[in-house]
Amino acid sequence: MPLNPSVVIVGAGPSGSSTAFHLLEHGVQDVLVLDKASFPRDKLCGGGLTRKAQQELDRMGVYDDEVATEAYHVPKPYIVMPSGNALYARPREDKLTQMLVLNRRILDEILMRRARQRGAEIREGVEVTELVREDGRCAGVRTRDGEIFSADVVVVAAGARSARLRPDGARSVELVALEGRYSGEPIEHGTACLVFEEAFTPQYGWVFPESEKIVNVGVAVMGRGKAKELRARLKVMVSKYLPRHLGEACVSCRTTGFPIHASYKIDDLVDGNVLYVGEAGSLADPLTLEGISQALVSGRHAAGSIAAYLRTGEASCLGAYQETVRRELRHFAYMRWVAAILKRRSGARLLEAVLRRTPKWLVDEKRFASP
Ligand SMILES: Cc1cc2nc3c(=O)[nH]c(=O)nc-3n(C[C@H](O)[C@H](O)[C@H](O)COP(=O)(O)OP(=O)(O)OC[C@H]3O[C@@H](n4cnc5c(N)ncnc54)[C@H](O)[C@@H]3O)c2cc1C
Repeated sequence: MPLNPSVVIVGAGPSGSSTAFHLLEHGVQDVLVLDKASFPRDKLCGGGLTRKAQQELDRMGVYDDEVATEAYHVPKPYIVMPSGNALYARPREDKLTQMLVLNRRILDEILMRRARQRGAEIREGVEVTELVREDGRCAGVRTRDGEIFSADVVVVAAGARSARLRPDGARSVELVALEGRYSGEPIEHGTACLVFEEAFTPQYGWVFPESEKIVNVGVAVMGRGKAKELRARLKVMVSKYLPRHLGEACVSCRTTGFPIHASYKIDDLVDGNVLYVGEAGSLADPLTLEGISQALVSGRHAAGSIAAYLRTGEASCLGAYQETVRRELRHFAYMRWVAAILKRRSGARLLEAVLRRTPKWLVDEKRFASP
């Protein structure tokens, strides 16, 4: 067990495991990952894996034999626009699926195992309570039972609840989601839906099947203290959209909520020798809530920057991490505009007209329009 590893990573979710895996690929040997949970562990999440996420999983060598084997395949996901029209994604010809759905209990264990197999030291059941600061830099981390791990670089990959590990304390929680799982008899196969009901915009609700018989239904709202609104939206999803996917559906586990740190702006990812990856850096999409691909991408770029820093000693290598992430996730800059457009009826109509002309979308039916 390295007591003075080169890099300590706090959190073994997708962002932490991706960082660890790619560090080892870059030849950095002493990588220690600490996670307060023991795996497999649950994580509230729709488990939707976009093509971007699948590409990253492929890079890590876990796509073919593990993720694609375990996940539910959704070649034809569809979006319900505020008008009630449904736009279906055009199936692709390559090996990736338009969307996969995989329960996070399974996905995160696959990723954690991959990082461990590649050579990362991973300690489960260890909670980090504080970053240790000395002479204006981070010297390491302190755990709940008082142990200190010093490191050249610390990566915070602790997800939406990373506030205490940030110099600016709690960052504002922009979204809260409520999610339930339902079981029943399958009706539609190979589809999943993202519902931009007029009353939900710019957020949405989802129906994501994890298997033929288990479906995950959820909704999100901006800001805290909106439990009533969340419950009302979930009710709409269950009564109006779930029956397309599952017959005689009944709740299969407790319905719960969880915060999501999203942002329209990519900022504050580097603080000296501390790097923030995934949701610890607010890298979730504020409209779609997608956060897994960004977690994997940011972990990969953080690893590249850290490896360059450990090789050269140049602090600017760490600073370059944020710019690289900004470049790769440049669509974040436009999401505020898309949100503003979606909120207006005329804007949503315009957006739909544009999408209809995009070859990516295949079918358009007036499926859910009010009579
Ligand atoms: C309801 C809901 C639905 C979502 N649906 C989707 C979806 O369908 N598709 C998608 O792409 N994204 C979705 N997201 C977003 C996605 O779940 C996150 O963005 C993603 O999990 C971020 O990964 P991460 O590695 O940064 O953090 P996490 O996955 O949260 O992992 C953080 C890890 O850090 C550990 N940890 C936390 N604090 C400490 C500490 N102090 N010490 C040690 N360990 C610690 C935790 O135990 C955990 O293992 C959803 C989110 C929610 C809430």
